[in-house]
Amino acid sequence: MKFIDEYRDAEAVRQFAHAIVHITTREWTIMEVCGGQTHAIVKYGVDELLPPQITLLHGPGCPVCVTPVELIDKAVEISARPDVIFTSFGDMLRVPGTHGDLLAAKSRGADVRIVYSPLDAVDLAQANPCKQVVFFAVGFETTAPANAMAVAQAARRGVTNFTILVSHVLVPPAIEAILGSKDNQVQGFLAAGHVCAVVGFEEYLPLAAKYRVPFVVTGFEPVDILQGIYMTIRQLEEGRAEVENQYARAVRREGNIPAQQLVANIFEIVPRKWRGIGEIARSGLGLRAPYRTFDAERRFGVMGYTAEESRICISGQVLQGKKKPFECPAYGTICNPESPLGATMVSSEGACAAYFRYRRPEANRE
Ligand code: SF4
Repeated sequence: MKFIDEYRDAEAVRQFAHAIVHITTREWTIMEVCGGQTHAIVKYGVDELLPPQITLLHGPGCPVCVTPVELIDKAVEISARPDVIFTSFGDMLRVPGTHGDLLAAKSRGADVRIVYSPLDAVDLAQANPCKQVVFFAVGFETTAPANAMAVAQAARRGVTNFTILVSHVLVPPAIEAILGSKDNQVQGFLAAGHVCAVVGFEEYLPLAAKYRVPFVVTGFEPVDILQGIYMTIRQLEEGRAEVENQYARAVRREGNIPAQQLVANIFEIVPRKWRGIGEIARSGLGLRAPYRTFDAERRFGVMGYTAEESRICISGQVLQGKKKPFECPAYGTICNPESPLGATMVSSEGACAAYFRYRRPEANRE
């Protein structure tokens, strides 16, 4: 298949792995931002092809993983209301809140449904005017345009029984929080290709200049990732801190302007809390004033929730690249995909789930 097969080609993988060994003269630490990249790295053993001087850290780019506990609690509470149809992508149903997850709420009788597009939820609301239909709008910059489109459609069609529970986060502020932390180890970033397909990569230029770190916009197949690592190492070895684009087949510097305009019409930048990390200023999206009637938190009066995170789970440190999953005492024992303690074990893009699936816990402890 075009754009897939050539980026899984074994000979190309070997060539990039060899080229990385050839140019690496000292230790470097690189973070892949996106959970999809983490999943591919662990699945294909990309990290095992690298010379020992290179350390890959897994970043916070899994939206399911960083959705805060209190948002899950709000979702569970709203779903339990008798007149509500609560809709979501399937990956949010097993994320644990304080008192269970949406799947458990469904088993208790809540009308929780999986949809494949927020526009399906708008249609569902239009077909069920006596019900309140809520969509769990979770994600990074990648899903924001579709969620903005759903709100715009609901407004245009006069579907007033549709709301969204918003948990949108933005990548560059999280990267700046990592770079600005006093114990930061990251010297270069693989930026998430699909995020940049929407927003472009101009936002990374000031970060590269301010913190003197290279960014390489990178795709998701093994050859993409190895080429992204190669380009990052080459910059580091040459003392450059620039923004380069490995994923040119999908990403333009300016991104997708109509999608950006749609998002800017519906959403505004707000502070957001990230699970395991805490609040980061200007790191999320919230509905603009004209569209707040579509805000599920306001409609259902669930604004001021707080929640405790698991004391055992170290997913916050995993999400910031400070620990590997197998350094967590619960990894593979009391925390596993069947019984996850933290969100990084629930989502297939979570680092803990990727390690559990592709690396035996026993092997990781050796
Ligand atoms: S293994 Fe489980 S408890 Fe440990 S950090 Fe990962 S999700 Fe949290």
